[in-house]
Amino acid sequence: MNIVIFGPPGAGKGTQSSFLINNYNLFQLSTGDLLREELKSGSSLAKEIEGLMNAGKLVSDEIINNLIEKKISDKKIQNQIIFDGFPRNLDQAKTLDSLLLKYNQKISVVLNLKVDYSILVKRISGRVSCSVCKKTFNEFFDPPTECEKSECKNRSLTRRSDDNEETVTKRLNTYDEQTLPILGHYNEMNLVKDVDAMQDISNVSEQISNIIRGL
Ligand code: ADP
Ligand code: ADP
Repeated sequence: MNIVIFGPPGAGKGTQSSFLINNYNLFQLSTGDLLREELKSGSSLAKEIEGLMNAGKLVSDEIINNLIEKKISDKKIQNQIIFDGFPRNLDQAKTLDSLLLKYNQKISVVLNLKVDYSILVKRISGRVSCSVCKKTFNEFFDPPTECEKSECKNRSLTRRSDDNEETVTKRLNTYDEQTLPILGHYNEMNLVKDVDAMQDISNVSEQISNIIRGL
């Protein structure tokens, strides 16, 4: 089972991906996380990527497609992938279709996390993550608790540099203009299942479990 988890910034894609990993033996492929790893190299490419991310713009398809093919071709996670934050435009969606074909896989479902945009600034401005295991919490909706792993004992809680109100507005514009049109593509393939992501975290997880049971 390969899943695309779809929705605007702050909808809960990462949070629900963690739920899926813990309950369905799946692996998360988050292009945002892969890019943030890349930033640590400090290379000139990393500087360019950082500039785009902080401006709420998309990083080039070429960079993304390279990251993606490495993962899709990895036999250890074949047919167990959650695509989080990818695809982000129609070209990426078509690249994903052809890569999956090439490596003999397919998308089982596109989970469409539906939220009112009015809630997103609060979700994003309250987002904090464990510096060690990267578990995400929310200062307003999901207050930080101890992490399960002992390595996290000396953790700090970190914020993403693009999680500010100004960048969020730009990220939402980018989402509307470039990412939303993908839904039409997946609707034609009859893959989209809507999820009411305005509900609390456990309720959203339950909706997702029900969808998976029905596949
Ligand atoms: P995305 O990956 O779509 O950008 P996240 O999963 O990181 O979103 O969630 C954004 C923030 O909102 C996080 O701080 C998370 O704890 C919180 N959050 C996620 N889902 C919900 C929910 N259903 N209700 C309230 N807060 C949520
Ligand atoms: P969110 O969880 O809030 O939607 P992500 O972590 O997925 O944010 O992405 C953060 C930033 O990384 C995006 O605003 C964009 O600049 C870049 N990015 C992530 N995934 C992609 C992608 N598939 N294509 C292009 N840019 C991407």
